[in-house]
Order: sequence, then structure tokens, then C-alpha cells
Amino acid sequence: MSSRTRRSRQRERILELLENERIHVTANWVYDQLRGEFPTLSLGNVYRNLNILVDQGEVIRLPFGSTFDVYEACREPHCHFVCEVCGQIEDVPMPRTLQRKIDDLVLETGGHSVSKTTVEFHGTCRSCLEKQVT
Ligand SMILES: [Zn+2]
Ligand SMILES: [Zn+2]
Repeated sequence: MSSRTRRSRQRERILELLENERIHVTANWVYDQLRGEFPTLSLGNVYRNLNILVDQGEVIRLPFGSTFDVYEACREPHCHFVCEVCGQIEDVPMPRTLQRKIDDLVLETGGHSVSKTTVEFHGTCRSCLEKQVT
């Protein structure tokens, strides 16, 4: 009972962290943030809790990050820009009208019904571009 309470308390804090920070995080980052607060926390706990949150639809696991999974709190749909130089992931807003146009295109050209759309941009981020210039 007590261990179950502690686990869900950890999960609550993980979700809070993702919602408040509003960034794309790795399990390692979450672990570093919370291990002072939960002395019994392990990286395995963090992964387990993140996976439960993903199953519950509270958190999204992003399909990039070749070595580490990247997570973010679930919120309004958006696309991602991934920097090929520094690996930074940035949110790109996706207007609903544009989203609908893309989904319609899939329906019109292939007759497929879309339930989820993921758009990914790859390139060089602004701060890496600035570094190249100077
Ligand atoms: Zn970059
Ligand atoms: Zn995002």
C-alpha cells in the first residue's frame, strides 16, 4: 500500500515537471530533477512511470532521439523541429486548418482515414545557424 502510494506520488511529480517545464525531456533529466526529492527513486522507476503516463495518454514519447527516448506532456497538437547539429528539439505550431488539409490530402490521394498526424522537420536550428555565421 505505502509503496503503491509512493509510486503514484512519483508519477504525479513527473507529470507536474513535464507540464510546468514545457520542454522535451529524457528519463535521465527527470531522474536528476527528482532524485533529491525521492531518495529511493531509480532510473528504472522513472522509465516505468513515464511508460504508464504514455499508456494513460498524459505524456507523449517522441520518436526521435536516437540514443534516448524524449518525452513531453500531452497538449495541443504541434510539430517538431529537430536540429541535426545539436539535437535540440523545438515545437512548431501546427494550425488546425493546415492539419486538416494534410489529413484531407491523405484521404483524397489514398482513401485512408487519418487518426493521428506527426510532422517532423529536420535541419539546423537558429542558434547553430548563428554560430556558423560568426
Ligand atoms: Zn542546433
Ligand atoms: Zn513538443
